[in-house]
Amino acid sequence: MIKTSVDKRRVCVIGAGTAGLCALKNSLEAGLDAVAYERGTEIGGTWIFSEEMPKNEYDEVHSSMYEGLRTNLPKEVMGYPDYSYPDDIAESFITSNQVLEFLRSYAEHFKLKPHIKLQHEVIRVRPRLDDWEVYVWDHSTDTCDPVYYDFVYVCNGHYTEPDLPEVEGLDLFEGKKMHSHLYRKADKFKDTRVLIIGAGPSGIDITNHVRVAAKQVFLSHHLSTTPNTAFMGNVTQKPDVQRFTKDGAVFTDGSTESFDHVMFCTGYKYTFPCLSTDVGVQVIDNFVQPLWKHCVNINHPTMAFVGLPFNVIPTHIFDMQVRFTLKFFTGQRKFPSREQMIADLEQEIGERWGCGVRNQKKAHQMGERQFVYYNELASIAGIENIKPVIHKLMKDCGKKYIFELDTYRSNKYTIVDDENYLKNGEAIV
Ligand code: FAD
Repeated sequence: MIKTSVDKRRVCVIGAGTAGLCALKNSLEAGLDAVAYERGTEIGGTWIFSEEMPKNEYDEVHSSMYEGLRTNLPKEVMGYPDYSYPDDIAESFITSNQVLEFLRSYAEHFKLKPHIKLQHEVIRVRPRLDDWEVYVWDHSTDTCDPVYYDFVYVCNGHYTEPDLPEVEGLDLFEGKKMHSHLYRKADKFKDTRVLIIGAGPSGIDITNHVRVAAKQVFLSHHLSTTPNTAFMGNVTQKPDVQRFTKDGAVFTDGSTESFDHVMFCTGYKYTFPCLSTDVGVQVIDNFVQPLWKHCVNINHPTMAFVGLPFNVIPTHIFDMQVRFTLKFFTGQRKFPSREQMIADLEQEIGERWGCGVRNQKKAHQMGERQFVYYNELASIAGIENIKPVIHKLMKDCGKKYIFELDTYRSNKYTIVDDENYLKNGEAIV
């Protein structure tokens, strides 16, 4: 079909979690005709708590949310730049339900609902000569039809496919094995001995939940620093597992322990099951490539991935990536040549490797780099950067889960203006 200049350009958003809602809202505001397909029965993705378990080995539950989770970032940085959490929530570190409520109110406020198709799963995306063919399976009618779009935002989340390490002897272990993706409630571990592997934000937080019910918890990790678990009486830190045995494990320091459960808090893999191979994007050792600026598909720049970087301020990075790509999708900016995008990618990866981060799995890790990244997106596309106060606040509250898990969530932050915030009522200079 030949498009005339009066045709509204069509945008397909895959997923209606925090990222998809943001892609939908900004696309509509940019004057595009956008639809978000959500395979679940409600919006919110990760923030929906459900005790439902996969029915069989081919089935999947999306969310990794567990009972009693409180956010590890304050709500003051978890809002969108143009839509904040309501002031009547007193705490800064809030429950998953409060985040879910917030996402619902965002959708309500920006009148997104008519543009969201629930129970619609995107099962195949394929590039054609000048648009995208998207097959959408409507679970309510059990029908599947192709729909055609000019642009695609991939917002399918990346905390669903567990990344399980290969450890010698795991098959021999006769106790229960699981990944944190399916952890829901601590009471399942009542009076048992549990080994938790991995001391990222989830590993340490879940240790703190599980130890309340469990008899003994071992936290195995290879962090160069020692997390503060002194306030958790029945938790013992251990180095990496060297090998599993029938009833426990031998650790790399030669010590042995027996336990009933092992839980892997070892992170997740990026996966895009609905993208056909001719989309031209591969995941190699958890490095999604080739992407320009961690989001634009270099082989087909009318497709963007939202939210791949980690150790970031999720909502703000989603919003910036979407506003960045929309400048190009709406023709206000022209994409660099393919060669230039590849050169940019190679330069960034070279710098990362040069800084010692040679692990492909860390290709999308940001941390402090995220602020350089935001500056780049802002200057290339001429979009508003994140506010200095968000950067300052992040500096104060990042990584607190390692050393101050017992106290940091009682801190209360208040944003005063674009530059300043209060911590527990006091100005931070
Ligand atoms: P998701 O929320 O996962 O949404 C993706 C959506 O896409 C889902 O609704 C899914 O059903 C849908 N979908 C997937 N595939 C398809 C398809 N083929 N067709 C249609 N729909 C599809 N962030 C914070 O800022 N603060 C925190 O404290 C925090 N705590 C966290 C704790 C846990 C345990 C986890 C797992 C994550 C946490 N995060 C936290 C990160 C959080 O995941 C992100 O902030 C954000 O919610 C991710 O949003 P998303 O839209 O990328 O993905």
